[in-house]
Amino acid sequence: MIKENLLQIKNKLPENVTLVAVSKTKPITDLQEAYDAGQRIFGENKIQEMVDKHAILPKDIQWHMIGHLQSNKVKYMAPFVNLIHGVDKFKTLKEINKQAKKNDRVIDCLLQVKIAKEETKFGFSFDEIESILVSEELANLEHIKIVGFMGMATFTEDQQQLQEEFLSLKTFFEKQKKITDTLNCKLQTLSMGMSGDYPLAIANGSTMIRVGSSIFGNRNYN
Ligand SMILES: *Cc1c(COP(=O)(O)O)cnc(C)c1O
Repeated sequence: MIKENLLQIKNKLPENVTLVAVSKTKPITDLQEAYDAGQRIFGENKIQEMVDKHAILPKDIQWHMIGHLQSNKVKYMAPFVNLIHGVDKFKTLKEINKQAKKNDRVIDCLLQVKIAKEETKFGFSFDEIESILVSEELANLEHIKIVGFMGMATFTEDQQQLQEEFLSLKTFFEKQKKITDTLNCKLQTLSMGMSGDYPLAIANGSTMIRVGSSIFGNRNYN
């Protein structure tokens, strides 16, 4: 079913939207099946799991870290990670920069923005991002590049609320894109939308969706 699910999603995807197949908790065989169906971008939320899968699977896969980051583990993925979505602390950016430098790389990052009304979601506020983007401290981090933002909407069926949250991030993204263009900050990617809400996210300006269960089926955490 993985191939069918994948093709069904891809067939309806606008050209400017990138699909990240979220494979967390899923076995290698599932990822291989998606790979054989043409998928090359995979998202994981645990560094160790991503490192293990990276070691086994084909080397032309682009690995995206979509989960909350523990600074002390950044070093394990620094040699190969393609995009880090969930940066929500300046301290983490500094650690990514340090590890990228050791690997002689520049690592692309998205800043996570808090758009959900729920208390539990991680992320910077709009104000915090505005000050980070113009800070001298950021300019000094030569081994990271901020290429956009990531947001997670509230877990709700309320389409109106979802739309407002997505649109608030899209509006902020467009505004920052116009005024920010430095060596290590070029905003081009807006990562929002998951299995339950990606069509609405795309309608409200998403350029990258992170889809897990609609491709691989429900996750079993036991
Ligand atoms: C798990 C996860 C997803 C995918 O969720 P689905 O509902 O299975 O599509 C997307 N983004 C993040 C940050 C996740 O942790």
